[in-house]
Amino acid sequence: MHIDDPIGRDDLVRLDADDPLAGHREHFDLPEGILYFDGNSLGAQPRRAAARIEQVRAQWRDDLINAWNEHRWIHLPVEMGARIAALVGAGAEDVVVTDSTSVNLFKLVAASLRLRPQRRVIVSERDNFPSNLYMMQGLVELLGRHYELRLAAPGEVHEHLDENVAVVCLTHVNFKTGAMHDLVETTRRIHAAGAIAVWDLSHSAGSVPIDLRAADVDLATGCGYKFLNGGPGAPSFVYVHPRLHDVLAQPLTGWLGHASPFDFSVEYRPAPGVARVLCGTPPILSMASFAAALEIFEDVDMNEVRTKSMRMGDLFVQLVERECAGHGFTIVCPRDAARRGSQVCLGHPEGYRIVRALVDRGVIGDFRAPNVLRFGITPLYQRYVDVWDAVQTLRTVMEEETWRNPVFERKDLVT
Ligand SMILES: *Cc1c(COP(=O)(O)O)cnc(C)c1O
Repeated sequence: MHIDDPIGRDDLVRLDADDPLAGHREHFDLPEGILYFDGNSLGAQPRRAAARIEQVRAQWRDDLINAWNEHRWIHLPVEMGARIAALVGAGAEDVVVTDSTSVNLFKLVAASLRLRPQRRVIVSERDNFPSNLYMMQGLVELLGRHYELRLAAPGEVHEHLDENVAVVCLTHVNFKTGAMHDLVETTRRIHAAGAIAVWDLSHSAGSVPIDLRAADVDLATGCGYKFLNGGPGAPSFVYVHPRLHDVLAQPLTGWLGHASPFDFSVEYRPAPGVARVLCGTPPILSMASFAAALEIFEDVDMNEVRTKSMRMGDLFVQLVERECAGHGFTIVCPRDAARRGSQVCLGHPEGYRIVRALVDRGVIGDFRAPNVLRFGITPLYQRYVDVWDAVQTLRTVMEEETWRNPVFERKDLVT
């Protein structure tokens, strides 16, 4: 894309008028007076979520235990998995919705080690999402001293691949920098070393077109409450390549992953296919809003989402450089839109206070220690003009030095 300088607000208003995705904004219940740039952390609320939650609440009241069969609650993990499959290039039977991303990552990495019993090394990246690293650390500790977690510097995973590596576990789009791995090429290299490829799609599912089958990915998981808008604490999803459906052995062998849970037999027997990844009872109220959110994606073309996301990101970076020059910002995310996920990340030593000052003026982004300001791009409900208005607010905050106000120093637990 090329937009001639100098860009003005009118140019962005024009882009919105021609935006094929503009109609989707209506599907979201956004509060008045804010510009939401944090849909990469917690997606906005779909309008239809309220009715869906109310429907499930009524099913619970009226039908009690029968609702599990009557309203197909028990089938939701698999049925919702089929919807997500369409967004990530998977077969309808390759995906299931269950548990949190952290828990699923544990299952998948542990299952990968079992698939390569002669090998004892897990490889990941130092700048992977910390919860993923913690889960792998916990697993290695549980397994004992013969196992090892090797952490590569960003982009240097290939240097750690050898005949001892059982599994490589990476996040497709980095949570802090927005840098995106080449899913196809990296998976190819992992396979060339004889290892299993486990991908975390938390920052790419729902924002970047993904073709898991074409990339030959073995196993993947990803977050339900970020770009998929499932609601706070919505469960995550798991993808299992068909060649592993009936050989995968994950360690959290709860009853709903059993081939026949209501036999209540003493011995665990895994369910056929991807359902063996399930563990305990699914959170049906949470899945109600998640299901409502997934309906929105039914008539969304992910290529259009990606095109708009790249444009908005490019515009954001260009405008920050032009409008906020001299205020000490660095561009932390890749400038090349093809290597960037759906977020813009700026570096600034006063990042925390600047983010708080922006939030105070209704521009909601977030902060990642030690110095990164993150702005998530969610093309389904954001407008191009929001980018203009956000950057103008950033400029005002810097010019008027409002971020120096001591109230913006207070640290909340969630940043
Ligand atoms: C958001 C995110 C998670 C979330 O994990 P939960 O267990 O659902 O809290 C995991 N991994 C990555 C890479 C994330 O971005």
